[in-house]
Parts: sequence; structure tokens; C-alpha cells
Amino acid sequence: MKNIECPEKIFENIFEIINEALWVIKNDRIVYSNKLGYEIFKCESKKDIIGKSVWDMSPEFQPGGIVSKSQGLRYLVRAANNETPVFGWTHKNLKGDLFETEISLSRFDYEGGIFVLAMLANIEDKRNLEKQLVEAKKQAETSAELKTKFLANMSHDIRNPLNAILGFSKILAEEAELSDLERRKYAALIESNGSKLHNLINDIIDVSLIEANQMHIDNKRCEVNGILEELYLTFQKRIENRDNLRLKLNIAVDDPGFAIYSDPMRLRQVLSNLIENAIKYTKQGFVEFGYQILDNKSIQFFVKDSGIGIEPEYLNNIFMRFSRESNANANGIKGTGLGLDISKRLVTLLGGKIWVFSTLNIGSEFYFNLPAVFLDYKPKKKEEKEKPKSTRDVNWSDKHILIAEDDVINFELLRIILSKTKVKVTQAINGREALDIIAKDDSIDLLLLDIQMPVMNGYEVIKEVRIVKPDLPVIAQTAVSLDNVENGNYANLFDGCLSKPIDVKTLIQKIEDCFIP
Ligand code: ADP
Repeated sequence: MKNIECPEKIFENIFEIINEALWVIKNDRIVYSNKLGYEIFKCESKKDIIGKSVWDMSPEFQPGGIVSKSQGLRYLVRAANNETPVFGWTHKNLKGDLFETEISLSRFDYEGGIFVLAMLANIEDKRNLEKQLVEAKKQAETSAELKTKFLANMSHDIRNPLNAILGFSKILAEEAELSDLERRKYAALIESNGSKLHNLINDIIDVSLIEANQMHIDNKRCEVNGILEELYLTFQKRIENRDNLRLKLNIAVDDPGFAIYSDPMRLRQVLSNLIENAIKYTKQGFVEFGYQILDNKSIQFFVKDSGIGIEPEYLNNIFMRFSRESNANANGIKGTGLGLDISKRLVTLLGGKIWVFSTLNIGSEFYFNLPAVFLDYKPKKKEEKEKPKSTRDVNWSDKHILIAEDDVINFELLRIILSKTKVKVTQAINGREALDIIAKDDSIDLLLLDIQMPVMNGYEVIKEVRIVKPDLPVIAQTAVSLDNVENGNYANLFDGCLSKPIDVKTLIQKIEDCFIP
């Protein structure tokens, strides 16, 4: 048979079309790459990759903290010794994103030089799939666990009120000697247990309707203020015996007919669920609800409380069906874990989103927004508030600021800066003293609170302030950098945060924002 001449070009073509990323490496430089070899690195042409060192295409460290260069050199040396190492590797593409590959190296010699052929298989999809599978398995297990807990709770929640209803009805029917007072007491117990059962059955029906895609949304004229006021009256009546709990309503549009296009019944249901929870999980302090109009695009409702708060690690699951926090504080507070799941699904059906901020032992803030289709209402364009630029732009002669600061120099500095605004300033040298002054002096309009203080630090102080004077604006000052301040929990706890050294302009603006919200 005649020998077929095989021109080198054929190999080059094969090299290009092969479904694997290939590099030819000399020492540690990439001297050749096929199309896939540069495409998986998001490079547009060979030019972007040829001549680069293999370390340029890797992060400095591999997972586990090993330096990429020393680890990679070991593999290249093994390949040069005619081994064919196969190993997992984390690469970095041109945009700086990391991805995982499986590499196999083999040596070949050409015109007296030693070269290494690297085959790179992108296993990112495989890894992602593995991660998704692990996540799905975890979720399935959690969901099974939650269902078991839910059934246990549910049978308790159904049996208890049923027992009470049956028991007291029997007494009413069979005991002839009951006084009027006893009769009324037992009838009230039957009624309250009946309404508990009624609520539970409604929740279960709602869950089934949502699950079967049968929850009907009836959008129509929805008079927001009327709904909120009605809820206020209902819940106010419910907590009238709780002297240490205040219910506050915050209405943004001062017009009784203010209406949006939405489903009034479902809006009422979501707000009612959130207020009910806020009251349930708040022993003392306040529960505040209301709405704000944001950028004329959406209306944002909120329900805030000064209650037990939610553990940070539980916050992600808070809207998951059947999920209930095992927080020691919540022990004894009964529930099924259906309310927030239903609320989230209803808000989604209404075209909005729901979210929460919470700090353990400080309180929770639930927000949801709905698309703003206003009826007979033109939101006023927000006039841009002229921001004060220096101490000369403001006159706070009628205001009184309490500065809780243990460091004499820092206090003196603040006092001098603020003196130009004509504000009255008082110093507290530790947290305990700050609380004493706030309790005695009603003229304090704002507390400037240093976080790192002896006796009682800023966190301990804010907890107390939120209970004794929930409306007092508090600005925290901290030596932590502002990046951490704004990413941390501070933003939820305080009305403003300042990082030291204090910038005068920011100080003035933050205080002004509290005085004229
Ligand atoms: P439940 O019937 O248990 O109250 P929800 O779905 O309404 O069910 O709430 C789920 C869980 O979220 C509650 O068990 C509680 O742990 C937590 N939670 C909800 N609202 C609050 C709140 N305002 N403060 C603290 N924890 C809350």
C-alpha cells in the first residue's frame, strides 16, 4: 500500500478542532494554544495568551493555601521526567474570575527542546452540578425535618383549641350550677379558641391554594390609609392591657382617599400577619407600621418592632414554610411557621418583594414593596433638600445634643465643632451616665454615642435607649472603618454612623438628617 504523506498542517488542524483546551508549554511559558485553550480564559485571540507564563493564568494561591507557582512547578518537573501527572487546578480568566479545570501534562521533544503538552478540561459545570446536588439534598432534608416539626406543632395547635372548645361546651351544657360570670368566661374561652382554630384553618387553606396556583388576586381600588387605620384599631384593642407595648402608625400620604391599584384583602392579610408576629415576639417597647412612597415607582410598607429579634443564621430561612426559629428567647411562643411563607407568596403575587432586617434582642424590621399604581394621586416630586455643607449652614440653637464620649480630647473636639451651630451640648463620660441623663432630661434631641466606652459600651446603651426612648435619634461614632460600619449591623441599630476621625461635613449632614428627616 502506498504511504500517505501526512503534512504537518493536518496536525495543526486537529490541534485546533479537538474538543479539549490544549497548550504547548516551554519552561513555564505558553508557546502555543488552540482555540478552546484561549476561549476558556475569555481571551479573544491567541495573541492574548501566547508568551504568557502559566502562572499569569492562575490565582496566586490554590485552594488550601498552596502557592500556585511552587505547586505547578512540581507538576511541570514531573512531566519533564516523563510522568503524566493528572490533577485538579484553579485557573483565573482574563476578567479575574476563578474556575476549576482538570489538567493532564505530557512531555514531548522537538528539535532538541523539551516541551509539555497540557490538556485542560473545564470542570466548572461538573463542580456546579455537584454543588447544586449537595444543596438540593440539604434542602430536601431540611424540608422533611421541617414538615415533621410542623406536623407535631400542628397536631398540638389543632388539638389544644379543640380540647378547650369541647371541654368548655360540655361544662356549659351539663353544669346547671354555673354563675353568670363563669358562663361568660367559658363562652369567651370557646370563642377565642374557635378563632385560633379558624385562623389556622385559613392559613392551611391559603397554603394549599397558593400551592395549587389557585390563589386569586383581585386587584381593585385599595384605600391604603383606611386599611392601615382599621388594622391599627384592631391591634390596639388587642394590646390594650399591655402597658409596656406601644403601637404606632406611620402614614405617609395625608389624604384619607389615597389609593393604589392592588388587592385590599391580600394587602390587609400580609400586614396583619406581620403585625401579629411583631406583637407576638415583642415583650416591651414598640410595634410600628406604615408605608413610604419611594421614587414614585413603588410603595414600601414596613412593620418594625423592638422585640426579641432573629438569630442572623436563621434570617435566610425566615420566609421558608414551616420554619420556626429555635431561639431560646422564643421558647414558649406558639406558631406553625406558615405566616411568613404565606406573606412572601402573597407579596410576590401582588408584584412585590419582601425582606427583613433584624438584630437579636434589639428588634426586627419587615419591609415589602408593591408596584405604585396610584389612583387619583400624583406623588409630589421630592424637592432635593439643600444639604448643609458646614457648621455655618445650620442653626441648632433650639436643640440639645448629648455626647456620650469618655475621651476628653474627642469630646472637646466635638464641642468646638458643634459650638458654631449654637447647639446645646452635654457630655456623658460613659454609657451608664448617658442613660441616666436621657431618663431625666426630656430636652435631649439626639444622642451622639461612642461605641467603645467603659462601664457600658455603645451596644448595651442602644438596647436600653430603644426601650426607654424609642424615638430618640442616635448616631454612633466608632473607630471601625466606615466600610465595616456600613456593612455591619450598625446601620440597623442606629439612625446614623460616623467613623473616627470625624469628618465635619458628614457629622453636620447626619445630624441634620435626624433633625429634619
Ligand atoms: P409562626 O407561626 O411561627 O410565627 P411565621 O411564619 O409567621 O410563623 O414566622 C416564622 C418564624 O419567624 C417565627 O417562628 C419566629 O421565629 C420568626 N419571626 C417572625 N416574625 C418575627 C418578629 N417580628 N420578631 C422575631 N421573630 C420573628
